[in-house]
Amino acid sequence: PASSKAAKQKGDPVVEQTDDPMDIVFVSAEVAPWSKTGGLGDVVGSLPIALAARGHRVMVVAPRYLNGKSDDLYESAKDLHSPLTLDLGACGEQTVSFYHVHKLHVDFVFVDHPCYHRAGNPYGDEHGVFGDNQFRYALLSLAACEAPLTLNIGGYRSGEPPGFPYGDRCMFVANDWHAGLVPAYLAGRYRRNGVYKDARSVFAIHNLSHQGVEPASTYGNLGLPDDWYDPLSWRYPDWASINGPAVNILKGGVVASDRVVTVSQGYAWEITTAEGGWGLDGVLKERQHVLNGITNGIDMVEWDPSTDEFTAAHYNADDLSGKAECKAALQRELGFDVDPKKPLVGWIGRLDHQKGPDITLDSVPEMAARGCQFVMLGSGDAKYEAQMREHEEHFKANYRGWVGFSIPVAHRIIAGCDVLLMPSRFEPCGLNQLFAMRYGTVPVAHATGGLRDTIQNFKEDAQGKERGTGWTFNPPDVPTMMRTMDHVLHVYHDKPQVWREVMRNGMGKDLSWNKAAKEYEQIFKWSRLDPA
Ligand code: ADP
Repeated sequence: PASSKAAKQKGDPVVEQTDDPMDIVFVSAEVAPWSKTGGLGDVVGSLPIALAARGHRVMVVAPRYLNGKSDDLYESAKDLHSPLTLDLGACGEQTVSFYHVHKLHVDFVFVDHPCYHRAGNPYGDEHGVFGDNQFRYALLSLAACEAPLTLNIGGYRSGEPPGFPYGDRCMFVANDWHAGLVPAYLAGRYRRNGVYKDARSVFAIHNLSHQGVEPASTYGNLGLPDDWYDPLSWRYPDWASINGPAVNILKGGVVASDRVVTVSQGYAWEITTAEGGWGLDGVLKERQHVLNGITNGIDMVEWDPSTDEFTAAHYNADDLSGKAECKAALQRELGFDVDPKKPLVGWIGRLDHQKGPDITLDSVPEMAARGCQFVMLGSGDAKYEAQMREHEEHFKANYRGWVGFSIPVAHRIIAGCDVLLMPSRFEPCGLNQLFAMRYGTVPVAHATGGLRDTIQNFKEDAQGKERGTGWTFNPPDVPTMMRTMDHVLHVYHDKPQVWREVMRNGMGKDLSWNKAAKEYEQIFKWSRLDPA
């Protein structure tokens, strides 16, 4: 069957087929490789493919971002010549068109509208976040609700002629606040007119800290009936810089969807607590009976040390010699001493308070004092970018700060480093620690959310594989992190056998998407048992 080819191309040797094939529609602001600023893009670029490999018919709906830089990426997606005029409340009638490419048995659909044609990343440019994101993602959400009804795509279900709409029995997966209006539209605009009565929606939270909150006066722009105001109504929390009544799109997604999923079990619990709930813990607690955590997988083809197109050499758990070559190449590329004995430590991520770039930067003098070579790759907050450049001046022999977003450099850091540092204050799932483990690079991370779930903390007194895949620490501050690093460096320098064991334990983990895809499938089945 078509689906087993998809499975092979994604590197899963045997993918069992679902006993309940469904029509699944992902709605997301990002989908790799077309658009990615973080893990959301990775997930939506991979999970749908894994579900298609299990025999589902899967569509992904995302904006067609033309920013003048990466427009070529969209070249293979063809105009379906199905323009559609949508009624978006006070924003009036808006006409969108749809572009489509069928890849690895998934229908990738891109919504085209002038509001997605801008320089910058999906959400903003060098001047900050775009002021009309509420409009841009309400439009995406409404267009995504129309796509399964109107687009003649995806015709490879056996016995059916090619090119037929998904129809209105589908399973929507609305991702993060940008797609948070999908469940509300289904309930408030469609179901009450007899459409989508048998559809279900799963709201997937990748990061609760962005909620799509705007003043209540914007409610009329969303194109929802008046009686849907309450599920979205919100008050700015004490710590916000503004106050007054507001609408919160993520809250609407949590309340209106049939099921809520987040990207690790640890995070599923954290978001129901006052510390991790970003003001929504009460709302999430009320939905706890339909809230589940499913740990993200990784793209095992893109992130494979035995075939990686960006690295200097290839290797696997049985023969690690290529990793030493990757390390030497990275040391050379960064202008460090090429010395296999010097511990090479990496950090990759958005320069955002969440990720602990301040903790990382503050640790640079101590890392240097311990003889570590240290590389940071990231972009974002200008103050951290400036500090990276300053450190580079002061710690020439030991520190490189690579300001920017570069997937090839990320691959070379993951492959070439000995240690990947992740002092994130919170981390819904985290992908870099998963990439690192697959590449035999040992993660040293704050014990939070998905990091705590996915990294087995090394225990000296345990036996065999039980001994761990990395080190975790708590709280996320420099003294605690450096105390852990001292232990890590002791094992690195003095117990090379144990070090290799930790590397191999990580490399042996099943991080494929198929495991997560099966769990999502279970959630979909449960949602079908619930009344709409
Ligand atoms: P988040 O979604 O919070 O940013 P994740 O760990 O879930 O964090 O995913 C981040 C993804 O973005 C990973 O694939 C990571 O490698 C990638 N990434 C982050 N910053 C950069 C960068 N500067 N260059 C290249 N890739 C990056």
